[in-house]
Amino acid sequence: MIDKNRSYWVIISNKVYYTNKNGRALLYNTENGQYIITSNKMHISVLEDMHRKQALGVVKLGEQELLNNDIYNFLCDAVNKDIFKYVDTEQYPTRPIQLMPILSLHKEVEKLTKRDGRLLGLNAGKQLLSAVLYLNNECVLQCEYCGVYNRQFLHCGKTENGGEMDFDLLKSILNQLRSTQIQTLHITGANIFKYGKFERLANLLKEYRFNVNIYFHLSNYNIKSVSLLKDFKHNIFIHFPLSPLDNDVLKNIAVDNIIFHFVITSDNDYAQSQQIIEQYNLSNTVFHPFFTGENIIFFEENTFLSENDILESEVKQKTIFANQKLNSNFYGTLHFCSDGNVFSNPNAEPLENIKNMPLLDLIYKEMIENTSWRKIRNEKPCSDCNYQYLCPPVSNYETAIGRPNLCTVF
Ligand code: SF4
Ligand code: SF4
Repeated sequence: MIDKNRSYWVIISNKVYYTNKNGRALLYNTENGQYIITSNKMHISVLEDMHRKQALGVVKLGEQELLNNDIYNFLCDAVNKDIFKYVDTEQYPTRPIQLMPILSLHKEVEKLTKRDGRLLGLNAGKQLLSAVLYLNNECVLQCEYCGVYNRQFLHCGKTENGGEMDFDLLKSILNQLRSTQIQTLHITGANIFKYGKFERLANLLKEYRFNVNIYFHLSNYNIKSVSLLKDFKHNIFIHFPLSPLDNDVLKNIAVDNIIFHFVITSDNDYAQSQQIIEQYNLSNTVFHPFFTGENIIFFEENTFLSENDILESEVKQKTIFANQKLNSNFYGTLHFCSDGNVFSNPNAEPLENIKNMPLLDLIYKEMIENTSWRKIRNEKPCSDCNYQYLCPPVSNYETAIGRPNLCTVF
């Protein structure tokens, strides 16, 4: 019980994230998700005092402050939420020391940006966690937004000048990937089963230690080709409305090793996906909202974050730290087009062609130039918002919709 007539060292927990933007402060306990938001000038004055460099997260509050109900109630609330702790100054006359967490995540990023020495190549290899290969450009289907889906999420697609990836180029990419930390290889293109060297590719992939994910549209399902890839994870895109052929495929395939990716543009699409899941007993499913340019209301209603969504999501300290340094949506992935051009993200400019630059140098180039891996929320309005690093990192939806923030906060 806090006695208003005594004085205390008040200590902020080192699990609490504090931010103060434009006279509104947020104290967010990353261990239990409890928080305080305040615009009260006296609260903010205590918090700012506590966060002075020399104060190290500790401030002394005595009778003069505690007899003020505003401060007293604030203190009690923060103690109840494990945001502050307090000790009696008579019992502990010496100012306690609170070790505040230091942002040290991904020192590699800083090291690489300093361009300092030969070990850089090895460190760069550690940064690559997954790769997307676009094999070809051939597909007889005419999906309405072909070439646009894959700018919002991983999806097959035709490109204007694309062709088929040369098999020697493909082998060279796979061999270079061996020298990295890559865990997962995603294989797509247009209709991948039309790739001329498909059978050779299927055999070649067995020699690598990566997890291999294969992506294709439901209407391109080809039982003979799929059987060659039985060791790998299959990802099938489903669009609405389904064709009679799509229904036949769904009736006849074994669904165990397949992840079904539903492309959702409306509430009606979502309702249809639920019906299909039930009808065909599908268990591995992912939903991808797709922005057509005309369904902003659907996006606003179903995907935009509200203040409550953010505060209820229990964001961990390491996530907040990561969000200050890098973009976990993009970080560690490179996209290899069939002509050899390499991108860090389908919406970014190409880094270079892998025929002209070795893989480790491409990774290094992305680390230095940051076409997307380290894109954080440092643009307005996010840079003026207390949720800047609590919010999920920027995604390709922001680019598609043309707004830096997909929320109802600003
Ligand atoms: S299946 Fe994929 S590649 Fe073929 S038209 Fe549709 S989006 Fe394009
Ligand atoms: S303005 Fe940006 S940081 Fe703030 S809630 Fe919206 S998206 Fe998140």
